[in-house]
Amino acid sequence: MTASIISGKELAQEKRKQLAQEVKELKQQGVVPGLVVILVGDHPASISYIKGKQKASEEIGVAFTLEHFPESMEEKELLDVIEKYNHDESCHGILVQLPLPDHIQEKAVIEKISPLKDVDGFHPLNIGQMMIGEDTFLPCTPAGIVEMIKSANIEIAGKHVVVVGRSNIVGKPVGILLLNEHATVTYCHSRTPDLKEVTKQADILVVAVGRANFITGEHIKENAVVIDVGVNRLETGKLCGDVVFEDAKQIASHITPVPGGVGPMTITMLAHNVVKSARNSAERLQVSKEL
Ligand code: NDP
Repeated sequence: MTASIISGKELAQEKRKQLAQEVKELKQQGVVPGLVVILVGDHPASISYIKGKQKASEEIGVAFTLEHFPESMEEKELLDVIEKYNHDESCHGILVQLPLPDHIQEKAVIEKISPLKDVDGFHPLNIGQMMIGEDTFLPCTPAGIVEMIKSANIEIAGKHVVVVGRSNIVGKPVGILLLNEHATVTYCHSRTPDLKEVTKQADILVVAVGRANFITGEHIKENAVVIDVGVNRLETGKLCGDVVFEDAKQIASHITPVPGGVGPMTITMLAHNVVKSARNSAERLQVSKEL
């Protein structure tokens, strides 16, 4: 038996069509969803990620603005730009592309973004809301992973999920979201002794490490669901995940490919958050008119 492929690309296309329809309806109410992306410096990977975000925004009808500043930009200047967009009613989402240059504190920047426009879902207030299961802007990669698992009609409740990686943007939040879906969650990281022993117990294995071909057949239980978040560029220029795809395909029940897996869903969930923010703002506008 070979594993079924959970295509993030196909799911993303479907979701983008639905979002485009929602944007049309919002525009009829006079609201044009707007996303502002702020880039400091010329990190090549950041430029490529931003192109993906721009393409998705344009496809859906979201107004996309790129604010591109030189590497030498001071932290105060960046905070002032964010402040300006916090008060700009045509902007519903603010995303500061990470990583930032070393002289700018990431924490200060994330905390400056209004939680009402934090479409990356990185603001501590939104993370807190996510922790307690309240409706909020969910971080895009973790939210996309949950959508992908659900799209394949995979039961999450009661399953043992093992997450390899504990970053604030992927590992930790994906574990929380799956816990909120009633899974039993185990986290692994660089200090976990005997990783294989733990990953072999996973019904759903989520891998977000950032090392090419790190997870092999030896780490995977028969019929597990394998979600490969990693994006690694090989010397050949080819992209690959953290999981040896050919191994996993023989053992798992489902697997996400790289490319065409988690990546397209991450961008789509960003667009989802922008549309959600625009909808919230349209509702607030309606309430204030009625008062
Ligand atoms: P980080 O580098 O922030 O985190 C990597 C995690 O892997 C850390 O928690 C680290 O543990 C853990 N780790 C490192 N070595 C080992 C090891 N030997 N055994 C077990 N765990 C280990 O990465 P991110 O979470 O930001 O990203 C992970 C991958 O996902 C990257 O390839 C990134 O490009 C990709 N990515 C893909 C996205 C997409 O849309 N497809 C979006 C975001 C990320 P420790 O904490 O102990 O150091």
